[in-house]
This record gives sequence, C-alpha cells and structure tokens, in this order.
Amino acid sequence: MTKRWIDLRSDTVTLQPEEMKRAMIEAEIGDDVYEDDPATKALEAYAAELLGKDAALFVPSGTFANQLAIMTHTRRGDEIIIGQDAHIQAHEVGAAAALAGVQLKTVPVHLNQIEVLDVRHAIRDLSDVHYPETSLICVENALGNGCVLTLDNMKEIYRLAYLHSIPVHLDGARLFNAALALGVPAKTIAAQADTVNICLSKGLAAPIGSLLVGEKDFIRRARKNRKRMGGGMRQTGYLAAAGLYALTHMVDRLREDHENATYLASRLTEIPGIELMKHRRDINMVFFKIEEGLIKEATFLQKLLSAGIKSNGMEDGEYRFVTHYGIVREDIDTVVEVMKACLVQ
Ligand SMILES: *Cc1c(COP(=O)(O)O)cnc(C)c1O
Repeated sequence: MTKRWIDLRSDTVTLQPEEMKRAMIEAEIGDDVYEDDPATKALEAYAAELLGKDAALFVPSGTFANQLAIMTHTRRGDEIIIGQDAHIQAHEVGAAAALAGVQLKTVPVHLNQIEVLDVRHAIRDLSDVHYPETSLICVENALGNGCVLTLDNMKEIYRLAYLHSIPVHLDGARLFNAALALGVPAKTIAAQADTVNICLSKGLAAPIGSLLVGEKDFIRRARKNRKRMGGGMRQTGYLAAAGLYALTHMVDRLREDHENATYLASRLTEIPGIELMKHRRDINMVFFKIEEGLIKEATFLQKLLSAGIKSNGMEDGEYRFVTHYGIVREDIDTVVEVMKACLVQ
C-alpha cells in the first residue's frame, strides 16, 4: 500500500473517488477529433449549461485553456490587460508572448479588487499610430492570492470592456471556489466574461483536464486552434467522464475544503512566531509567514516531510497550505502538532 501523505502543496494533488474511476471505465467513448466521443460531448454540453454559455471545449490543462483563449481572441502584436501576478502572467512560462505573440499590460490587484480606472487607463487609444491594439482583458477568480474578486468589481470591468468592444476572458481555474466564497452560482460570475476557463483537476478531483467555455463561434475557432496546438485528442471520453463526475458530484464538497482551511487558519494562530495572512482567507488556501530566524526553510520542510506532510517552499516569503479532497480535519490537527513541535522551544 502506498504511504498516505498529508499533501498541502496544492489541490491539484487530489486523487479520484472510486465512483469517479467507475464512471471513467464505463464511459461511452469515440474519437473526439471526429467529434463523435459521446462522453466528451456530454461534458462540454453540461459545462456550457452550468456556466450559462453556448459551448465548451475540453482541453488538457488550465494553461492550455487560457492560452487557447488568448490565441483565439487576439492577433499577434496585440496587447492584453491583466492583473499583476495573474497565473497567465506569472505562471504560464511566457506563453502569451511565445504562442499568441501578444504583450501583457498589467494593472495592480489590491487584495481582492482591480481599480476600474486603472483598466480604463490601460486601454490603448486606437487613433495613435504607435500603440498596439488592446484586444482582451483577462481577470482571474478566485485569485491566486487566496482572495476572490467581488462580483461588483467584475461587473464594472465587464461594463467598461463592453463600452470599448473588448472581450473579457475569465481565468476561473477555481471558479467554483469563488462562487462558494461569494455565495452566488458559478453562472453569475461567468456572466461577467465572454470566455471562461475552469479546471477539473484541482479541487474537483478529476485527474486531468480543463474546459474553455464561451460563445458558439468562438469555441468553433478555438477547436481549430486547439488542433493546431496539438490538443486534438482522441478517446477523451475516459477523462471527460471523470470531468462530468467532478462537475456533478464534487462542486458542493468544496465547502469542506473552505471550512478546513478556516479551521487550519484559526489553529495556526495558536502557534507563536506564525503570522497568518488573515486578509487573504476567502478560499481553500492559507498563507502564512514564519518569524525571521525561527527556523530555516529547508529544516522546516524536512521536518514536515519526515512527519508525512508535504509543503511547497516559500514564495515571496510566505508559505501556502492548500486544503482539498484528501485532507480531513484530523490531518490539520496533525499538521498543527508537528508545526508546534518545530517552532515552539
Ligand atoms: C492552476 C491554475 C491554472 C492552470 O492550470 P494547469 O492545469 O496547472 O495548467 C490557471 N490559472 C489559475 C488561476 C490556476 O490556479
């Protein structure tokens, strides 16, 4: 039997429930490049309906969905407006420049808010011969900093974009976490964008896959670009069946992850030397700092590891623990005990 780790690195590490695996085995499959894979069709139709859009396209990853969206919305040399440190800007290997050939104009993200004036100032004046064309605005919700953008903020940005005839792409890798935090259906958030990426392989526990969702003609063009990118896959029904199970059975369960994160955050405040980033506590992530000089990063990670706990190292001086399907309440108690043993002399 494989060792059971308490893996706090990300919600991407989630393993599949038995019933999800059964759904995969029993999937009705075909060849999706010929567009005759019934399980994939079913997933795409369900996702489109769930988000209140016309159509959806199954793709290998969230990065793929975002980059496919950028490629399909823009032309080479265009500029896209995006929040500072968004996944698309900071964690997609420069793909927007390398693949779509666009440049990024970043606007600041203030915790859970993008100033609509900043976006307005970032939109290029088309009459100036020097300027690139602003052809897309990208927003992210939930944000990677643990916050969610408010619905009002998204509405303001979408209205502005509409007035300038600029489409909006929503990187909703954790859209359902955002919906839970905002207390609205995912559809309500998706209504504030033209196209949306959702990840099946994070807290929803599917093994692989994301969906790009949008209007029919856009998805038709994206399908062609997906093929160009080498993303035309054949018997995707096995993966799509897992995805459909994820969307139908795993969304409401995200509430447990949020509750566990809240519990973890409150227990971390018991430990002297830990500074909790308590203003960034909207979803299944807990960010914290350890007081300078208390323990070396490598020592801390090693002590966690030898107690069966996996964590990423610091980013910008902070640790991040992520709760997910596979982390239960008792695991959090274990983590807190181990951390106390590391930090309290
Ligand atoms: C994880 C994530 C992605 C990309 O997903 P991959 O499947 O890892 O490529 C995109 N955006 C955000 C905000 C994410 O958290």
